[in-house]
Amino acid sequence: MPTDPATPSESSATQKPSNAGHSRTLARHPRPLGGDPIRTLRPTVSLSSMILNNEDDAVHHLSVKKKPSWLKAKLPGGENFRATKANIDSHKLHTVCEEAACPNMGECWARGIATIMILGDTCTRACGFCNVKTGKPLPIDKDEPRRVAESLRGAGLKHIVITSVDRDDVPDGGAGIWAETIMRTREACPDMSIEVLIGDFKGDEAALQMVIDAQPNIIAHNLETVRRCHPAVRPSARYERTMELLKRVKAQSAVAKTGIMVGIGERKEEVFELFDDLVAMTADHNGPRDKHDQSRGDACDIITIGQYLQPTRNHLPIDRWVHPDEFEEYKRVGESKGIKLVVSGPLVRSSYLADEQADMFGLFDESE
Ligand code: SF4
Repeated sequence: MPTDPATPSESSATQKPSNAGHSRTLARHPRPLGGDPIRTLRPTVSLSSMILNNEDDAVHHLSVKKKPSWLKAKLPGGENFRATKANIDSHKLHTVCEEAACPNMGECWARGIATIMILGDTCTRACGFCNVKTGKPLPIDKDEPRRVAESLRGAGLKHIVITSVDRDDVPDGGAGIWAETIMRTREACPDMSIEVLIGDFKGDEAALQMVIDAQPNIIAHNLETVRRCHPAVRPSARYERTMELLKRVKAQSAVAKTGIMVGIGERKEEVFELFDDLVAMTADHNGPRDKHDQSRGDACDIITIGQYLQPTRNHLPIDRWVHPDEFEEYKRVGESKGIKLVVSGPLVRSSYLADEQADMFGLFDESE
């Protein structure tokens, strides 16, 4: 699915290994990705082969690495948090915040902001970083767009992010439900901007076009990681296919956004290469021109960069804690290479403070 996280990526390393956790992990991952979450097996267990070729490093083994101080997040709780939860539950909706055990729930939900996850709670893909349940989903729920819109009506939000699981089991990948959700949400909340964090629809151009035609304010699709790490981190997706999707969005004048996790096995230089690719590959169209260089198209507008956190011991291990100074460097370098807004920090997720990102990008200014 298109995690939100660091999508996905919206995940937490806070779960304690226990027998209960073990059964939960197996239940949530009918197609286990490898490894064994039981702590006593640690010396024989490693998922590191999935992120091989970090030539300069020794083999990594699963181990609980102490979180650095800069990754402390606000604990969930309080009146606003409970009100957000009650609203989600009463409309029988899912959120990626909960499904991915996002560390920012305490902060976001206290602000009344959650990222709604449509098309059910079960993803047809099994990415190595993502905590969303994977398996055979229930049939498409045709009433879901109405419930999403009703949950947002009167909530007083300036901006909302909606995402989905991947539905490779249905012919349009869920694009029809996406379009209806956007349309109904706009009707219910005409002054709110809508950001959609979508999957790749397996490259189906007609499905993507349905979403573009529904005219959300921002269309996001996450790269999740650098090119080399795709086979291990995101085996059902393709680096080029994601770039192609973002290019199609830009060719039609929409605002495009992507996101990656760091600390999952990539190297700094590879992130810089990804910046170059993002500018070059998403600007390769005949649509609106780049403001500073008319010879090329307008490129992907926003990228978010956050620390990968291993959701359970059955997911890919953390390769390293990325220091806040390095996040600063990514912002500096990315923007110097032509990306309009780089939002980079340890706890940044694609939907984290997305209203502020939209504000920084000037979305509200233009619409007001
Ligand atoms: S960053 Fe906030 S809105 Fe996004 S998934 Fe995490 S808790 Fe939800």
